[in-house]
Amino acid sequence: MSRRNTVQKSTILKNLQERCDHPSALDVYHSIKSELPQVSLATVYRNLEDLSQQGKVRKLDTLDDITRFDGNISPHSHVICSHCGAIEDIAPVNSDLMLKEAQKNSLFAIREIEFVFSGLCPNCHISN
Ligand SMILES: [Zn+2]
Ligand SMILES: [Zn+2]
Repeated sequence: MSRRNTVQKSTILKNLQERCDHPSALDVYHSIKSELPQVSLATVYRNLEDLSQQGKVRKLDTLDDITRFDGNISPHSHVICSHCGAIEDIAPVNSDLMLKEAQKNSLFAIREIEFVFSGLCPNCHISN
């Protein structure tokens, strides 16, 4: 890997780790452009894919099918606003019982469960 690629990847990772708004690739692209003027959107996409395959970032599927990314890989759940698409973290839900129930009904060795809650964020809740 060239030095330039390494710098791009670490800048993208750092950007994700410093924010908690679960940005899309396009959001990341816009916010690192001043730091890396020569970077393309395709490069940002590729690096985010790589980072998620390496387990350094989390990929989130959203209600509108735009993939969003999370630099926080510790266990936590998400709540998505069904109106504006805002995503926030919430503390992990105690899921031991659900994991046990699921394991009873599956031959898979089940390891984790991921919750995505949806609702209205404070902004949308007030304006509706
Ligand atoms: Zn909202
Ligand atoms: Zn998160």
